[in-house]
Amino acid sequence: MQEAVVIKNGLVIDPETMQIEKKDLFMKDGKFANSPHEKDVKQTEIDAAGCFVAPGFIDMHVHVFQDKTPLGINPDLVGIKQGVTTIVDAGSAGIEDFPIFKEKTAKSATEVLAFLNISKHGLCNGLSELDSMDKLVQLNDLQTCILKESTIVGLKARMSHSVVKNSGIKPLKHARKLADAVDLPIMVHIGNAPPPLVEILPLLKQGDIVTHAFHGKKGGILDEKGTLIPEAREALNAGVLFDVGHGTSSFSYEVMKLYKQQYDYPFTISTDIYLANYDNPVGSLMTTMSKLLALGFPLEELVAAVTSKPAQALSLKEQGTFQTGTRADVTIFSIKEGETSLTDSEGQQMIVDKLLTPCYTLREGKVVFKK
Ligand SMILES: [Zn+2]
Repeated sequence: MQEAVVIKNGLVIDPETMQIEKKDLFMKDGKFANSPHEKDVKQTEIDAAGCFVAPGFIDMHVHVFQDKTPLGINPDLVGIKQGVTTIVDAGSAGIEDFPIFKEKTAKSATEVLAFLNISKHGLCNGLSELDSMDKLVQLNDLQTCILKESTIVGLKARMSHSVVKNSGIKPLKHARKLADAVDLPIMVHIGNAPPPLVEILPLLKQGDIVTHAFHGKKGGILDEKGTLIPEAREALNAGVLFDVGHGTSSFSYEVMKLYKQQYDYPFTISTDIYLANYDNPVGSLMTTMSKLLALGFPLEELVAAVTSKPAQALSLKEQGTFQTGTRADVTIFSIKEGETSLTDSEGQQMIVDKLLTPCYTLREGKVVFKK
């Protein structure tokens, strides 16, 4: 039996054309379709009047390894219930615990993908996972693992002092060799030096991702005059992608504002959401987008930063698009008017008058969440 769905009356945002247009969106058998259905097909109608309709949102930095890591939060709580259809766990698991991670997240209604931590135990044995080179995964083991694990979309290397201790830049050099050999991107977490950005960024290539790019700590992407350090500019010109990765301590309004005034390189938006920052300051992917909307970024650009841009970065063919025949994951949201105060990771408050709010979430053409 064929199942057809039409989403009517919504403002459809296509992140690939950057167009916002009032039109109906058709789906059949879990895929996007380009035309109305024949009369004999059973059709479900969703009324999206007053709402925006976008391809399913992707949050490419979350932590959802429950029980095994203290950070782990329920995947659907930060996924479909917040209008996010695909989440990517950013390095909670390494190769040793990946089978358990997969088993634990398999039943989620949210699609769960992963960056594999270059440390064998990921974040399962404390948060200094790169303080000894003995902890790093070896190429043979990595190759065997990614051959059977199709949900691994990249490698995660957390390059800040509390993680690497005396290992310095060495873990990232190892990650570079691994990534080149298996042809996957590296997501690098940046924070407090050492190692400094001037050592980290030159090791990155086109397709790699810098998360926490807009943090407000010392030694970030901007110099004391507020302009990009040369290494950051070179990385961006080489095709390295900067990602928000809000987190507890990694997103600064001030840095984002200065960056926006001067540069227009594409970037992605992710939350780095986990148990301890879910209430405050992160909230959700849509809360993070609302902060950026208040900083003056156009809505369609923000939607691209959680759909087509991360899909491209992770080589995902079925996500982040409305292309006919691709998987019909859809996020329907509204913009609630009214003043609220939202905080960044530096404790700065900003009065925001528009708040993105999830209305419906669809996975493979089926409603999995309704406000
Ligand atoms: Zn993280």
